[in-house]
Amino acid sequence: MIEGKLRRYGLGLFAGALMVGVLVVKGGTALSLPSSPPASASGAGTPVELAPVDVVIFAPHPDDETIGCAGVIQQAVAAGKKVRIVFSTLGDGYSLAAGMLLHKDESTLAQADFLALGRARQQEAIDANRTLGVNPANLVFLGYPDGAFDRVAANTDGKPVVSPTTGRSSTYGPVVPDYHASAHGQPASYTRAEALADLTEVLRQSHPSQVYVTDRNDAHPDHKATYELVKAAVEASGYKGAFFTFVVHSGPPLDWPWPQGATPQAPFQQHTANGHTYPLGVPWPPNVRVPMTVAESVLKANALAAHRSQWNLPSDRGLLGAFVKSEEIFWTGR
Ligand SMILES: [Zn+2]
Repeated sequence: MIEGKLRRYGLGLFAGALMVGVLVVKGGTALSLPSSPPASASGAGTPVELAPVDVVIFAPHPDDETIGCAGVIQQAVAAGKKVRIVFSTLGDGYSLAAGMLLHKDESTLAQADFLALGRARQQEAIDANRTLGVNPANLVFLGYPDGAFDRVAANTDGKPVVSPTTGRSSTYGPVVPDYHASAHGQPASYTRAEALADLTEVLRQSHPSQVYVTDRNDAHPDHKATYELVKAAVEASGYKGAFFTFVVHSGPPLDWPWPQGATPQAPFQQHTANGHTYPLGVPWPPNVRVPMTVAESVLKANALAAHRSQWNLPSDRGLLGAFVKSEEIFWTGR
C-alpha cells in the first residue's frame, strides 16, 4: 500500500522526556458513546441536518486531524468554539496496520480483516478527539475507501469503485453509522458524485468560518483527493471563509517533518536533502504558524497515541511523534 510505503521509513525518535505521562491510552475497554449521529427513520425520511459549527477539519484518514490540527482543535475548544471533523475514509486499507492489529502476516489478510481495522480506527478517532475535547457527535465519518479515495475522486462513469481491501462499494460505519446513511437512510456508493455531494452538504450545513484540509501537494493520493474534492465542495457550497491547508506526507518520512522526533519546544524547519527541499511544493515560511504551549503539545501526543493501530507501529510512531512541535503550520491561498 502506498501509505505503508510512505510511512515505512519513519524513525522512533520520540523524545524520552515527552514520553513520561504521555501514554494514557485507554486499553481495550468497551467505550460508551455520549451520542452518535442521528439516523433517519427509514430510507425515504427527511434528511437530517447538521448543526452549525465554527471550525471544520477535513481528514483523509483517522489520525490526520490530530497530526495536523490537534493544537488548533484544543485552542478552538478552549475558546468555546465548536469543531467538526470530517473523515473521508475509515483508514481501512493499511495492510501493515491490519497485520499488526490481527497478528497476521500481511499476505494472509482477508476483507474481514480490513473491516476490523476500519472498526478499530473509527473507535480510535473517537478516543483521540475526545482527548482533545471534541464530542463524538461532532465527528462525521463519510466511510469512503482508504487507499482508493483518489479513484473515487476520479470516478465519473457512475460505476462505483470497489475497495481493493474491504471489497465494499458503498459507505459504511462499524462503530457509528457513516454520514450518508445517517442523513439519508442509506449508504452512498463509491463515486465522485456521491462523495462530492456528501462533502458539499456537510460544508454547507456546518456554516463554518474556518476550514482545514490536507494540502494539494501532500504526497499521499488520498490526501490530494480529499483536498481536490473539498475544494470542489467549497465552490459548490459558496463557502467564503478562511481556508487553511496542512502537509502530512512530503517525501520520505525521514525528511519531513523536520526536525526528526518530537520537539515540543522547537518549531518546524525547512529541510534540504538529496537535492530536494521539504516540505515539497509549498512556500516557506508557511503563511500561518500557530504557537502551542508545551501542555498543548503533550495533549497532542496523547491524542496521537490514542490512534493505537498507527502509534503501535514503530515506523508510524516516529512519523506521528515528529509532528509534536512548538507550533502547527498552515498555508492559505491554496
Ligand atoms: Zn492520512
